[in-house]
Amino acid sequence: MDRKVRVRFAPSPTGPLHIGGVRTALYNYLFARQHGGDMILRIEDTDSTRFVPGAEDYINEALAWLGIGIDEGVREGGKYGPYKQSERRDIYREHVKMLLDNDKAYIAFDTPAELEAKRAEIPNFQYDASTRMSMRNSLTLPKEEVDRLIADGEKYVVRFKVEPGRDVEVNDLLRGKVTINSSILDDKVLYKSADDLPTYHLANIVDDHLMEITHVIRGEEWLPSAPLHVLLYEAFGWSDTAPSFVHLPLLLKPDGKGKLSKRDGDRLGFPVFPLEWHPEGGEVSSGYRESGYLPEAVVNFLALLGWNPGDDSEIMSMDQLIEKFDLAHCSRSGARFDYEKGR
Ligand code: GLU
Repeated sequence: MDRKVRVRFAPSPTGPLHIGGVRTALYNYLFARQHGGDMILRIEDTDSTRFVPGAEDYINEALAWLGIGIDEGVREGGKYGPYKQSERRDIYREHVKMLLDNDKAYIAFDTPAELEAKRAEIPNFQYDASTRMSMRNSLTLPKEEVDRLIADGEKYVVRFKVEPGRDVEVNDLLRGKVTINSSILDDKVLYKSADDLPTYHLANIVDDHLMEITHVIRGEEWLPSAPLHVLLYEAFGWSDTAPSFVHLPLLLKPDGKGKLSKRDGDRLGFPVFPLEWHPEGGEVSSGYRESGYLPEAVVNFLALLGWNPGDDSEIMSMDQLIEKFDLAHCSRSGARFDYEKGR
């Protein structure tokens, strides 16, 4: 397919951008520049409970410091805007309606207490095809009652109606084809009337589609969502233009097992953030910029965490990285965060 390459970095403003997130942004940027494509910065602020003031400015400042250029975004503008999800409520509402009208989703009224009771009653309870008909939703209640509950202002969510027993194929450019059975998926919440906002899953795929994203390059932690996203593209009838996926391996602790955390940085004495972070009334976290690193060095070092140029070049400028970067040469397993290399 001959589409212009368009990628996006889609952080949630829930705190300072972690160095792992910066690497994701960098790989998107290198890939976009290499293909003469567009790099979009989309702010995914649909989780109102996790919103952190100052985080969005921090993201912009960090990317600018590192020289990761953005073609379209909240500050840059662009013809696919708004680029902040909380400003796209009408679009999501309209898309939720499309799914409801096509019987691909349904309205559920179950309260937290009711869900809790079900969990206590049924071991490993999951809201899905095997349980949805015993719950309080638009599939089990008469239409008049559904309308009345909504009119009365009762809180509801919209859930995706996952059809069980289907093999769902996820094609990841790095990992190859992964097939999972849809029966293990639950009927994910797509929208919450309480704050009139979609969840990550709906907003993310609607925006990737409308913004004509061709490649979704993101952290490995999102890999479990990919089958659901494949089904969502299908439910909307967008499978033909669905983006290709690339799930980047996690950044691992320099020592021991597991994901790199802020605590490792504090313990071993290196920053895990690009810039210093001053949370409101909280403790300051150190950043590479304030610790005296040059942005070029941080970029170079991050590029090599999970990718290698296939030769022995170690010091590369941004232009050289753009030229040499190859997604196919990214590692599939986690990349140990070897901060000594960055010095
Ligand atoms: N908002 C998600 C995050 O914070 C984006 C994941 C994605 O790129 O799809 O990581």
